[in-house]
Amino acid sequence: MPLGGLGEFGLNACVLEWQDHLLLVDAGVMFPSAEMPGVDSIVPDFQYLAERRERLRAIVLTHGHEDHIGGLAFALQAAPAPVYGSRLTLGFVRRRLQDRAASADLRLLTPGQSVEAGPFRIHPIRVSHSVLDSLALAIETPAGVVVASGDFKIDARAPEEERTDLGALSAWGDRGVLVLLSDSTNVEERGSTATEDDVLPAFQDVFDRTGGKVMVSCFATSIPRIQRVADLARRAGRRVGFVGRRMADNTEVALELGVLRIPPSDLVSSGEVGQHPPETLCLFVAGSQGEPLSALSMVSVNEHRDISAGPGDTVVLSARAIPGNERAVSRLIGNLFRRGCDVVHPGLARVHVSGHGNQDDLVELLRRVRPPYLVPIHGEYRMLAQHARLAVRAGLPAASVLVAEDGEVLELSADGARKAERIAAGRILLDRSGVEGLEEMVVRDRRHLSVEGIVVPVVVLDKQTGRMESAPEIVTRGFVDDDERGAELLGDAGRLVAEAVASRPEEERHDPALTRERLRLELRRFFRKRTQRRPMVIPVVMEV
Ligand SMILES: [Zn+2]
Ligand SMILES: [Zn+2]
Repeated sequence: MPLGGLGEFGLNACVLEWQDHLLLVDAGVMFPSAEMPGVDSIVPDFQYLAERRERLRAIVLTHGHEDHIGGLAFALQAAPAPVYGSRLTLGFVRRRLQDRAASADLRLLTPGQSVEAGPFRIHPIRVSHSVLDSLALAIETPAGVVVASGDFKIDARAPEEERTDLGALSAWGDRGVLVLLSDSTNVEERGSTATEDDVLPAFQDVFDRTGGKVMVSCFATSIPRIQRVADLARRAGRRVGFVGRRMADNTEVALELGVLRIPPSDLVSSGEVGQHPPETLCLFVAGSQGEPLSALSMVSVNEHRDISAGPGDTVVLSARAIPGNERAVSRLIGNLFRRGCDVVHPGLARVHVSGHGNQDDLVELLRRVRPPYLVPIHGEYRMLAQHARLAVRAGLPAASVLVAEDGEVLELSADGARKAERIAAGRILLDRSGVEGLEEMVVRDRRHLSVEGIVVPVVVLDKQTGRMESAPEIVTRGFVDDDERGAELLGDAGRLVAEAVASRPEEERHDPALTRERLRLELRRFFRKRTQRRPMVIPVVMEV
């Protein structure tokens, strides 16, 4: 049962159910686009788990990206259960739970060592991805083996600890698998995904020609990238610093676990940056997606407390813009150029390679696992649909590919597979406090206000006579200019209000709610006709 991640980027969460036993694979968040004003993050609706909280045997996390672990606290709230994850994944999770003053029964998953949760036996398999310690899962169930790819690419050239364990995947193919759930993120990219080392020449070039600071922005989880760039930086005589809360937190966890290796003497803290000459610094700065309050955004408008960017400095954006963030990233790049520094991004040089498998990687996984059924996961619907086509081109019968969306239940057994009923699977919108769920309505209203503005006609009526005490006042925000035309429009609107009040039928005179509704409808019609716009109209009717 996909609760999220099938039909969108992020929000990954999938439930396996056998009789009275549930297993949750991943509990991710999704970050909102600009069309969701005031929404900080989005988590899956875990109502299905909440209604069966006694039955959840475990939560298994494939890797430490926010789109797989960021909703964990909410999943645990819905149904507490032991949480399994790899070393680095649990390191990140522990830190997040501390921030929320929450706790959980965290249990380590090590590739090659299986664990049991109710009727499920979980076998973690190492895969290559942009965060270290990423796992695919082979889950033995009484109905057959489910292989979940997690986010992965093959990267056969990577060092062993970063390489996908193709041997283990083939072994599951030999044993026989019921269904493969496979990452669709990069299905539109041809060939196979490049190896992480391919970023080295472009970064070397940056270090060779930058006379000032080098600032690198990537995801705070991209430990393999950070390690490589930090090694180059140190060889170029630069110390390394981490700027931005998430960046500092995550690298601290990775340093503590020994999966990121930088000698303490080569580290500088954000506050000490000013004490070092710029040409001796390489700073990793959070905010590659142009998030408005991130460290890099602050640097780009010269409002960061410790760090500035200027002529001689180079900023490297070492990440792809997540779909929906392109405009914010473009604005960020513009602002950085305005500061006079140089900006290198993936469109200009190879400073980023994807952590997701391209078409050849996806086909390779299929060939290894040889599943009778494939369910494309992780991606917008177009990716899921194209993944299905790719699999058919690679030889899978069309009936073997199950394209599903969030909430669609897939029933699988040795006898066959089918789509069963739908279950509730929605999303919960969170504001910055991260606690309360925001209603979709609220966000829709905000969007409406941000596009069309608001008009508030204020009418004061005599309670006895029902007549207006004074001329109506019309307050607007974000709707008309404060000029002659605006004044004329509002003047006409005021006259319309006065006429509407005067010509009300007798039965409306004793009910201000009816008067409010009449004014709302008449003004909406009036503004639409005169301006082709639909401002939010909220009449205030007072009786004195
Ligand atoms: Zn992901
Ligand atoms: Zn990932």
